Order: sequence, then C-alpha cells, then structure tokens
Amino acid sequence: MPKRLAVWAGVAFALAGTAAQQPTEILIRNGLIVTSTGRVQGDLRIRDGKVAEIGANLTAGAGVQVIDASGKLILPGGIDPHVHLTPVRTATTMQGADDYTSGSLSALAGGKTTISNFINQVPGEPLAKTLTEAAHLVKKQAIADVVLHYVVSDPTKLSPADIAMLYDRQFTLKIFMMRPGFDENAASFVNLIRAAGSAGLLTMLHCEDSSILTTARERLMAEGRGALKGQNYFESRPIVAEDIATQRAVAISEVTGAPIYIVHMSSERAMRAAEAGRARGLPVYTEVRFIYLHLTKERFNEPNGSIYTGAPPLREKSDQDYLWKAIANGSGDIVDTDHVGYTRAEKTDPESTIIRAREAANYLQDQMPLLYSEGVRKGRITLEQMVALSSTNPAKLFGMYPKKGTIAVGSDADVVIWDPNLTKKIRDEDILSNGHFSIFNGWEVTGWPIVTIRRGEVVFQSGRITAKAGSGRMAPRQHWQRP
Ligand SMILES: [Zn+2]
Repeated sequence: MPKRLAVWAGVAFALAGTAAQQPTEILIRNGLIVTSTGRVQGDLRIRDGKVAEIGANLTAGAGVQVIDASGKLILPGGIDPHVHLTPVRTATTMQGADDYTSGSLSALAGGKTTISNFINQVPGEPLAKTLTEAAHLVKKQAIADVVLHYVVSDPTKLSPADIAMLYDRQFTLKIFMMRPGFDENAASFVNLIRAAGSAGLLTMLHCEDSSILTTARERLMAEGRGALKGQNYFESRPIVAEDIATQRAVAISEVTGAPIYIVHMSSERAMRAAEAGRARGLPVYTEVRFIYLHLTKERFNEPNGSIYTGAPPLREKSDQDYLWKAIANGSGDIVDTDHVGYTRAEKTDPESTIIRAREAANYLQDQMPLLYSEGVRKGRITLEQMVALSSTNPAKLFGMYPKKGTIAVGSDADVVIWDPNLTKKIRDEDILSNGHFSIFNGWEVTGWPIVTIRRGEVVFQSGRITAKAGSGRMAPRQHWQRP
C-alpha cells in the first residue's frame, strides 16, 4: 500500500517508495473529470507529461504518486490569452510588476496553466531579433506555459515575409484601435489584418474609438475633471466609443474575410455588434474580461475607486447582465483577465489622471474561482461552459487544441484538482503576483484549485508553488480553430 504523506484541504497525497523528486507517473483517483462536452467520474493516469489513461479503478504501479480526488473536480488547466507581463523592467513607472515567474505563480495558484504576454513592435529592430529575445525570456523565467502576441503600432513596417515569420513562430497579432495611430494608418491596418488572415494569423483588436476618447478626455480635463475620482474615468471612455469601434472591427472582418478576436468586451452594445457580425457568419470572436461580470461603475465612487480602473471602464448593471447571458448562450467565447501586476499604491497613485491611468490590475489568481463561485454555483453557466470559456475555447482560438484545453488521452497533462466546496476569502496577503493585492480583497469565494499540474508536473499544492522558474515553455501552436 502506498504510504500517505500529507493531507491538505481534504486531498491525500500518497507516494509509493521514498523518492522525493517528481514521479513520472501520477494517478488521480475518483474525481469528477470535466471537459467542455461532459463529465465522468473516474481516475486519470498521467505519464511523461501527458494524459495516459482515463477510466475506473486504474491500478497504481510502483513509484506512482496517487492523489485521492474524491469529492473534487478534475478540470483542464485554465488558459489565459490576455496577460500583460514585464520580463525586463525599464525606467517607466507605468509597467506592471510581474515577470513570467511571478505571473506564473499567480496563474498556477488560480488554476491557470497557460498564460500569455504581448511583445511590442520595436522601431528599427529586425522582427526576428524581437521575437527571438521574447521567446528566450519565456524559457528563462516562466513556470506556466506561455503564448505570445505581437503588438503592431506601425503596420507599414511589416513585410509579407514578416507576417509569414510571425505565423511560423506562432504569434498572434494585436492592434489597438483606441490609439490615434490606428486612424492615422487605418488603410494600412486593414491591409495588415487582411494579410494576417490569409497567412493564418488571428488578430486581436482593442475596440474603442480614438477620436471619441480623445475629445471626451479633453472636455473633462477642461472642466477640471481629470482626476481618477467618482465617475470621471467612466465618462472619459463612453460606451459609444466601444460600440462604434466594435462595429468597425466587424466591418473590417467582413471586408477582409480575416478572423478577429475582440478583447475585453464590456458592454451590451458592443456585444450586440459582435453578435450581429457572427449572425452574418463572420469569423468574429469575443473575449469577456471577468471584472465586468462582477463589478459595475458604482465601484468608482468608493474612496479608492481608482483600483478598478481598466479600459474599457466598468459599465452598468444591464451590461453586466448581458455579458453573463452572452457567455451562457455562446456569443462570448472566452472569459479571462487582462492582467497587469500593479500594486495597490500604484493603482491609487494621486498623480494618475483619466489620461495617465494605470489600466487593469493583477487578476490572475481570482478569475477562475470567481467564475466558478458566481457563475457555476449560482447556476448562470454550467461546469462544462466554465471549462469551455476558461480552457477549451482559448486553446482552439490560439491554436493549442487538443494538445491543451481538454482532458483526453494524449493531451498535455495540464490538470487542476478543484475543490468545489472550499470557501475562502480573497486576501491581499495570499496574492502571489508582485502586485500583492486584489481588487476583490475580502470577497468570499467558494470553489478553489487545490492542486495544479502542468505537463505532468505538480506545480502548485498545499498553497505553495512547487516548480522552478524555467520549467515553463512556449506552448506549441498551430492554425487557430473556431470554438
Ligand atoms: Zn490588455
């Protein structure tokens, strides 16, 4: 009989033999295995980093680590395609504090095994150099697996060979419609999105209209309402700016035939615009950033309401309700974070204004537990839908399915053991991001990851990270697939 080593939060870890290093085989017993298409009670054998067998009463050989998951869920590891990390900090103070290592800690403790980052176009630098250096930093620092996106600020500098290189090196494109540079170069951006689509690349779009944002800010600043207080930030980014940019993005997809992925959708109007495009059969995909599911604009009135700043801003209750409906009926494809590892001090910096704001915060650790607690437990979405939104759909859209995004024989053993009944308060001191605080501090949440396994290695258990920086990899990617 394997000897029981430790019991934490109701999960027994047992290891046959005496070896303290990671075993090559793990047997997870008697959990409820959930994928986007169904659930089955059973055992899961993990060998050499992959799912080797799924069944009932599987036998444990010598040297196998056995984990009893009775009463627990076994979910595919979360995949967050919208995470901003700063692997090398420079002088500017507007960067988050997380590199790939601290971002990984927070992600793994929150049930996510694959995260992402955005790599900026560097003027005058050959693309190959930018991409090689970016991949090198992932290899050096990451614990979670990583996908990378390339942010284009000047589309005229990208040649057809560059676009082919981005595809070969498994990048996604990201374009900010909210920046004045988008309108200055609109025709070139449309041509780039067309070329990217033809080359098999998915383009992520931040949809807010630059002219509307600029003039709204100028008017508020002229009225002396530039501070990040009350509803100033909310009014500086009107819903109509998101709506019209989303309509334009859908139009660009229609005219080019290229797939687009609209990031952090926050409003009913924008979601309806995306839904209209989808109804016409366009390859338009949508991301709902989780803060809009849990918070509304009234939060900005709190004494330190600037901690909630993010672009777009928190919206109305009716928008929140619509987004929950969208993720339940399938028009919302992905729920994720837009994580940036800011500290509480940075988020409440009195020097910040509606123009110079630190947008987003460190969210990686809270998002999946909140989706479970507020979504699955409250009957707004099913467990299978949670898996689709957090893992399967991002795996498909970002070209990793079925290697990631599901639990199936042969897929990567990215697996989370989830205690559906564990109730814990979110507390600043538990946040592993270098941001070290949560905008949800004090919220009571039921349903937490208790063990996280990445490619067959236990990387989080008993509240601790058990893997080293440098064990994460660039997740191999292929052509994107429709969810
Ligand atoms: Zn972002």
